Amino acid sequence: MKQKKLGFGTMRLPLLDSSDQTSIDFPQMCEMVDTFLQQGFTYFDTAYMYHDYTSETMVRRALVERHPRKDFCLATKLPPWMIQQKDDMERIFHEQLEKCGVTYFDYYLLHSITSAIYETAQRMDCFSFIQEKKKQGLVGKTGFSYHDNAKLLDAILASHPEVDFVQIQLNYADWDSEDIQARLCHEVCVKHGKPVIVMEPLKGGALARIPEAAKKILQGFSPHRSAASWAIRFAASQENVMMVLSGMSGSGQMLDNISYMRDFQPLSVEETACIDRVKQIITAAIAVPCTGCRYCVEVCPARIPIPDYFALYNDQKRFVFAPVHAAHYMNLSQNHGKASGCAVCGQCEAHCPQHIAISEYMKEIAAVFETPH
Ligand code: SF4
Ligand code: SF4
Repeated sequence: MKQKKLGFGTMRLPLLDSSDQTSIDFPQMCEMVDTFLQQGFTYFDTAYMYHDYTSETMVRRALVERHPRKDFCLATKLPPWMIQQKDDMERIFHEQLEKCGVTYFDYYLLHSITSAIYETAQRMDCFSFIQEKKKQGLVGKTGFSYHDNAKLLDAILASHPEVDFVQIQLNYADWDSEDIQARLCHEVCVKHGKPVIVMEPLKGGALARIPEAAKKILQGFSPHRSAASWAIRFAASQENVMMVLSGMSGSGQMLDNISYMRDFQPLSVEETACIDRVKQIITAAIAVPCTGCRYCVEVCPARIPIPDYFALYNDQKRFVFAPVHAAHYMNLSQNHGKASGCAVCGQCEAHCPQHIAISEYMKEIAAVFETPH
């Protein structure tokens, strides 16, 4: 049977406590995993550090221990920035097999390649490591997830033609963006004949929560379709795209995704024209293009929950200042660092795939949420 194009991303699993990334709602996750498989979908994507290093273990408990291995494909990722010596790769790889409870991974990626991380990956020979694992039968297909410009991607694929696929950020809002370069990166993958796995088709959820004006245009075309459906079908419609990952945070989102990806139909010319019309409205409405990947949180010495603050900041920009945002900020900042505690060390910015000037925004966020209104 042909593999369906929707993958279950496990970086935004449902939480019992929104301020604790490890508080995964296990019963709901099991229900989602079961539904996903029952509906004929098979691809699951995790990574070493998702959900404060607990995602792989939860995948074992909800998926691997509850379903036959032949019924699903599992992808996970090696974080090159954590590799200080070559033995670290072997250690992390075996820890991942153990955490996931499997004897092999169907897909294994170098995680979040940017120019700086590529430099480390080259120095530590990470590409050879993943090929070696493939030769040993411990990995099915090798690839890397990518967060930099198209020119570098072209150079990497020329140096590493052995990789089987590439995972890129692709959504209609970033399609022509100078920074993310989704279209150009996609063209490079096609040029090198590489299958593409799409991440962030909803731009961290932003394309599911679109402004009213954009919603009206989409609903004018088709009243009952969700905003997310347009974004996911846009990604799945592009040439060479083999899989679109959706970081589903609840059963409702999953059922919506399944409804149009079970028998996926590419976008028509008229539908593509409709998306072109809403693109501008949406891009203008996104204040900070944070996708919530949480890579920055890992490295912040001030323990600032950066993406959570950006989510509040974006919401209050879009929907005008509401006391509920201030209350939520107060709650978060009681257990984590405040935006005003930013030491401007720049560590987060070196890890941000969206190249956001985080420390600058921390000043603005402190002014908005820590000043009495
Ligand atoms: S610049 Fe600020 S927010 Fe970024 S890692 Fe340093 S302290 Fe944290
Ligand atoms: S600020 Fe950047 S690194 Fe941090 S969650 Fe947002 S997109 Fe990811």
